[in-house]
Amino acid sequence: MTDMLIRGLDALSLPTDAAPALARYGSLLLEKNKTMNLTAITDPEQVAQLHMLDSAAILGCAHFQGKRVLDVGTGAGFPGMVLKLTEPSIDLTLLDSLNKRIDWLSQIAPTLGISHLTALHGRAEEFGLMPQYREQFDIVTSRAVADLRILCELCLPFVKVGGLFLAMKGQKAQEEKDAAGRCISILGGQLKKDYVYQIPGTDIVHRVVVVEKVRETPGQYPRRFAKIKKAPL
Ligand code: SAM
Repeated sequence: MTDMLIRGLDALSLPTDAAPALARYGSLLLEKNKTMNLTAITDPEQVAQLHMLDSAAILGCAHFQGKRVLDVGTGAGFPGMVLKLTEPSIDLTLLDSLNKRIDWLSQIAPTLGISHLTALHGRAEEFGLMPQYREQFDIVTSRAVADLRILCELCLPFVKVGGLFLAMKGQKAQEEKDAAGRCISILGGQLKKDYVYQIPGTDIVHRVVVVEKVRETPGQYPRRFAKIKKAPL
């Protein structure tokens, strides 16, 4: 896995020194996946490409150095853990509604050389209303959590005015973007140019929908999840 990661990080113009830690993370993931449902991908090379390199690629779409970053619905740590391992100056917070995943991430962080990490168990729509998290992050990321309209209501409240929300999407992003214009505007966001990249070693092209926070999010958002789902903005 390490060689593939070195080649992939290099192709993404990223420093390759994180490759051993990313490979170790991949091994821990596959080991734990035998007893806890963390990923559907079980081939080490695919883990390297479809989890590690896919996550690392988004470092190219914004300045992450020294930034306060939140990963919403991080699951087994994607993209958040990969961002921190590749760019250690990030002040990282992970959030997920499944406690056993958050516990596992807290346990493995020191093994991977991460000394400071905030791992929160809870629901985004509840944490986004709390003053200690609301509009406190420079960059909020999310991958494979929900449709863009739902995701924006879950994630934009956490972003500082002037900060970014990065939604990692597949090729169908355009449809979701077309439906999300009004919602993004209500929540204080403004769509920027997508960041499009190819995962090294594959022909898979992915897209990051980039939303800049230009105004504070009105206090009534996020709503309760049932409401967000039933009547997306
Ligand atoms: N981001 C990871 C990835 O790309 O592999 C995990 C994706 S997984 C399909 C979705 C994750 O989002 C799950 O771990 C789930 O517990 C979490 N999640 C879903 N809704 C959430 C919410 N409202 N607040 C926090 N976490 C949520």
